[in-house]
Amino acid sequence: MFGRATAALTEFLFPRRCSGCQTTGAILCAACAAQLPAVPQPQCLVCGLPLAPGMPCRHCADFPLSRDALRAPYVYTANLKSALLRFKYVGARIAAQDLAPLLGAYVAATNWQVAGVIGVPLHPRRQRERGFNQADALAAEVGRLLGLPRLGALERVKDTPPQARQPDLQARWSNVAAAFRASHGTPVSGRRILVVDDVCTTGATLSACGTALRAAGAGAVYGATLARAL
Ligand SMILES: [Zn+2]
Ligand SMILES: [Zn+2]
Repeated sequence: MFGRATAALTEFLFPRRCSGCQTTGAILCAACAAQLPAVPQPQCLVCGLPLAPGMPCRHCADFPLSRDALRAPYVYTANLKSALLRFKYVGARIAAQDLAPLLGAYVAATNWQVAGVIGVPLHPRRQRERGFNQADALAAEVGRLLGLPRLGALERVKDTPPQARQPDLQARWSNVAAAFRASHGTPVSGRRILVVDDVCTTGATLSACGTALRAAGAGAVYGATLARAL
């Protein structure tokens, strides 16, 4: 109750503004969400990157994903970038309520038939510093919308430097390799799992999550992010 009153007061004092048009009510309004550019078709069936028609995926040839499929509904453009930055200011749970429906609707239209959802974990030290994990907040809200349990089945065991600071693709993949491990005793065996993150740049982080979940016996691992950097 206290939490709800505090949220209402915060909303009154600092109303959420749309990252696109600045109207109040949400960090991205429905009209601006409808203008977000979709990742173009055709896409690689594995990594979800746009393909030239009839051509094989060069990204998958160089960096095969340890995962069944990775998809994102939208290209990572300024409005989404700015909306994702607002997690810090409006609170991750509230921000996730504004953005998760976009990802939930996308996942609901797939045939993945997942049994549970996991947000890409932060290392405990980084989580303490930041105070929130926006991947986890999105995963919780996507799970709530789709009626999927949120599984605490992954841990980040390596405190890796930020992916954005890595000089190239190879460095990004090496940086997060073996960064994750399935938590002890979590029920992933034989199950189809959805791993959620906010943005996908190279797919390295989600692939490393896939490796850990596969090693723990997951039946299939799908990655979904709100945005894809192209
Ligand atoms: Zn707007
Ligand atoms: Zn591919």
